[in-house]
Amino acid sequence: MKPADLVPAAATPRIPVCDLAGTQLGSFPVRRIYCVGRNFADHAREMGAVAPASKAERGSPVFFMKPADAIVTDGVVPYPPGTRNLHHEVELVVALGADAPAGVLPLADAQALVFGYGVGLDLTRRDLQAAAKAKGLPWDIGKGFDHSAPISSLLPAAAFGPVAAQSITLDINGQRRQASALDQLIWDVPDILHELSQLFALRAGDLVFMGTPAGVAALQPGDHFDARIGTALQLQGHIAPAAV
Ligand code: MN
Repeated sequence: MKPADLVPAAATPRIPVCDLAGTQLGSFPVRRIYCVGRNFADHAREMGAVAPASKAERGSPVFFMKPADAIVTDGVVPYPPGTRNLHHEVELVVALGADAPAGVLPLADAQALVFGYGVGLDLTRRDLQAAAKAKGLPWDIGKGFDHSAPISSLLPAAAFGPVAAQSITLDINGQRRQASALDQLIWDVPDILHELSQLFALRAGDLVFMGTPAGVAALQPGDHFDARIGTALQLQGHIAPAAV
């Protein structure tokens, strides 16, 4: 092949998009996916970490990223390669509709950047993540793989209401696996946007997976998932056989 044949055609950029609840709004182009680790005390403890006893002791949040094209919007997740322990982590997803101003985002200004919310799964190759943790290596191959971020349609913030008043659940094959009130977040949405703004320039199109409560466990091909936040957000789908 000539070098020119290996340059992706400018006319065919593949920008991942989320669906929006309400057909008039079109779709939501995704720029980056930030993820928060250890944002519920019960999950931090189940992973063997020490949960902070109070907000004053919480230190700094754990952040990692997934590629934007890891999102799945049709609910069909092929069982990923390289793992024997694919875990579900049900999470609130925050979608930013505006760029942050330069500098550190004040807490009081954070909510104004939020377009809306979704419910998603931070799928994790737990065996690869655990091996990386043990060696002090990056988490990328445990977290940032293809199809690792199934997500519901996004709902505008005004229609969603206050985050802390909602609850999040995940059922697998009709059995409840994870459930929590969202007032249990160690860092709430303004806290996280404030913290992220000290590390990255937040922009419209960014998604933030806010962390998972306790109850993470393995998924198998054929499993059906049903993730919900309140009555407004729902993500249904299944784990398909591994692509060969
Ligand atoms: Mn997570």
